[in-house]
Order: sequence, then structure tokens, then C-alpha cells
Amino acid sequence: MFYIDGHCDTLSKALDEDKDLYINDLQFSLNAADKLGGGIQVMASFVDTKYLNSKNGAFIRCNNILNKWDEYQLRSDCDRLIKNKDDVCNSLDSNKTKVLLSIENGAAINGNLNNVDYFYNRGVRMMSITWNDDNELGCGAKTKEDKGLTDLGFEYVKKLENLGVILDISHSSEKSFWNAISNTSNSVVASHSNVYELCKNQRNLKDEQIKAIAKSGGIIGICFYSEFLNENKRADVVDVVEHIKYIKKLVGINYVGLGSDFDGMSIDKTAKGVENIIEINNIIKELKRQCFSDEDIRKIMWNNWYNVLQRNLKAKTLYKSVF
Ligand SMILES: [Zn+2]
Repeated sequence: MFYIDGHCDTLSKALDEDKDLYINDLQFSLNAADKLGGGIQVMASFVDTKYLNSKNGAFIRCNNILNKWDEYQLRSDCDRLIKNKDDVCNSLDSNKTKVLLSIENGAAINGNLNNVDYFYNRGVRMMSITWNDDNELGCGAKTKEDKGLTDLGFEYVKKLENLGVILDISHSSEKSFWNAISNTSNSVVASHSNVYELCKNQRNLKDEQIKAIAKSGGIIGICFYSEFLNENKRADVVDVVEHIKYIKKLVGINYVGLGSDFDGMSIDKTAKGVENIIEINNIIKELKRQCFSDEDIRKIMWNNWYNVLQRNLKAKTLYKSVF
């Protein structure tokens, strides 16, 4: 089945471990994903907090990760990059997995909003505000004192809206979340976050947050990281479906999808039964076993994400590789 997954960290991991994006032994590879018969994978450039310590460190790190993508794309005869609405639409006719580039941690812009344009020109179409720690845009999920967004953070949210870059509030603190969502008229997504009521972790979303995301026309991508699925920290595919069911009951089926976080966690911390991209088929099996309709399954596996991308990306956009 066609699929859309809102988050993986494979680009960063492949760079650090010098692995190929097409064939590798990671949780996600393009070759394995192609076997699903088409889809869109959001691939994040994850800027770890340690890169914030040196001058321009976060910006340089993000560029190095994006270079990894460009190196692959330049030697591939298949144009996989999703840059605009048309590319989203055309992906349905392709049996190759397409890729939407995101940035996980707005610290990548080094406090300079012009760098949002720069990354846009490198093909990035989704960006988060923070990782777990605070940065110059605002407070992260594990902040010690939640002050929400900074003035620059408010400008950043508006900048993303104007450019047609999707705002990802995964990893934001609660106050940053509310500041951001009330400062944009675009849909807001949580690319890889789960339900707080089912697993009380700071990275998960409270009911009012889930309702606000739904109201914005956004989506919550369910993450396969055991610690966000289940308080016993040992989760499997049934737990993934529990989080889907909770969101369906709270706000309806149209606001939930996949946000695997492949290669952002170790195998032993990944929910059993969904330890790599091919195994997302086990979610379909579990949804069927729990009597989800074909229409609901289609929405969860791709159609909800598809609608968010269609609604929030620009119609036609220029993209210039700077590699
Ligand atoms: Zn993450």
C-alpha cells in the first residue's frame, strides 16, 4: 500500500555512520521503502543540541546532513524530492518512494531568519521549532522553565507560514506549542508525537493540544518509540494502534497518521512488530484485526498526511540545489 511517514532520522544516521541511503542495514532505506509500492517519506535533518555549542555549529551540521541527501539525489536517475503540491499529487503515480525534507530543531538557522529562505532553497518543506532543549526560538519539551517562544520564535512561525514550510511542533514545550499554534493560520503538525493520556511523557500531546492540531487541519504522526507508547517502555504494534484509536475517538480519523522516528531510536527501543519500514504493513494487519474500515486504514497510512501536504505546500516552487 502507498504510505506516508512524517518523520525518520535516517539522513543524519546515514551521514554519521557513512551508510548509503538506497541500500543499508538501517531501519529505513529507499530500496526497502520502494518495495511497499510507492509513498512519501519525510526525512529529517536532526540537529542535536551538542552542535549548538560552537559558532554556526547548528547551521553547518544541518548543511552537512542536507549534503548527504544531495549527494544521493545527484547520482540517482530518479527525482524523489517533494517540493510543491504537484509533486505530492504526482507521487501517487510513482512506484518509487518520494522524499520530503524536514529540519528537526530550528536552531539550524543560527538565529537568522534569512536561513529559513536558504534551507527552503535547499528543498526543505517542514521545520520544527526546537528539539528537547531551549534554543533562540523558544523552549523545548524538556525545558526547565517554560517561557514559550521568543520574539524571534514568533517571527519564525510567521516566516514558515509565508514561505509554505510546514510547522512541526514535535519537541516543543507546552507553552511554545500554544504560542506557535495561535500565531499561524496554516495547519500545524506533530510529525512524531503520541498521546499523553496513554503514556505520560513530556514529548506526548495532551488532549487540548490534539484538539488544537485537529482544528488547524493538521495531523499527529504516531511515533514507534516504546517510551512514548507505553509506560512499561515495552511496546508493540498493538500500542501503536491504541494511540491511533485514542485520537480517532477524541477528534476523528482525519487527524492521525504515521511518524515512525526510524533511525532516531535503537531497535530494542522500537515497538515490536514495526522495527523497520517494511514492517509498517503490520500496522495494516493490526488495524484490520481491530476492524478498522478500508477507508480508515487508507487515511491513517497516507491520505491524512497527503491532505496536509496538499493544503500547505505552495503550488509551484523553485528549488535550487546548492551542493
Ligand atoms: Zn525527534
